[in-house]
Amino acid sequence: MAECFSAVNKNFQILSNKDCIAIFSWRSHGNMSLVYGDTCGSIASRSDFLTPAGIKYQDLVCAKQTHSNNIYFVNKNDSGKGALFYDSSIEDTDALVTNLKSVPLAIFTADCLPVSLYDPKNNAIGLVHASWRSSQADITAKTVMFMQDKFNTSPEDLRVNFGPAIRACCFQVGDEFRDIFPGSLISREKNSYLDLTGVNRQQLLDSGVNDINISDSGLCTYCNENDFFSFRREGKSCGRMMSVLMLK
Ligand SMILES: [Zn+2]
Repeated sequence: MAECFSAVNKNFQILSNKDCIAIFSWRSHGNMSLVYGDTCGSIASRSDFLTPAGIKYQDLVCAKQTHSNNIYFVNKNDSGKGALFYDSSIEDTDALVTNLKSVPLAIFTADCLPVSLYDPKNNAIGLVHASWRSSQADITAKTVMFMQDKFNTSPEDLRVNFGPAIRACCFQVGDEFRDIFPGSLISREKNSYLDLTGVNRQQLLDSGVNDINISDSGLCTYCNENDFFSFRREGKSCGRMMSVLMLK
């Protein structure tokens, strides 16, 4: 099927077909956040990044991400919320879903995992900001369930992609994480590392998503200093990458 997420191409698009586009920014595209890091050029960076992909930056729907498992159903009136001013973003939300065309969903990350979900049968999408806290609260599984309820999505039809995030090579955590994520910690030289992508993959598989329909950029934000911002490496005031998902 042509609807599958593909590997990252040189335009940083992971999906582009007649119905849907998925794209994420790299460090070289600039800071995409209107609230963290140096925000002076963020609107221009968004425009430069999205316009060639045929996405209107003025229409972006953004959320005030709070590491929750709150999911928001984006409707017509939401177009442009958070596009020009952070304060107009959807409140207290870490996953956005819609079946509206030409309404680009956006989430912002610097180590947290962006998860893009696409239902080609019912033409519906979901975009998740999967931090470890949100993942602990099953946000990706909850988003699949939400799409089932709202759009009659069959999990086995879903196409899913993982964008750049801090990976198990670098995500060192304390022993308390053993209780939070049993089975998802990797031990190396007496230290523990969290496989955040693995946690979210398992939620998808447990929800009925086919492994073959899950594609992974495999990119680690912490390892690749030149390519990505990293919260852990640079602190809270670092810039943010943007993942955008839109039905055409
Ligand atoms: Zn790494």
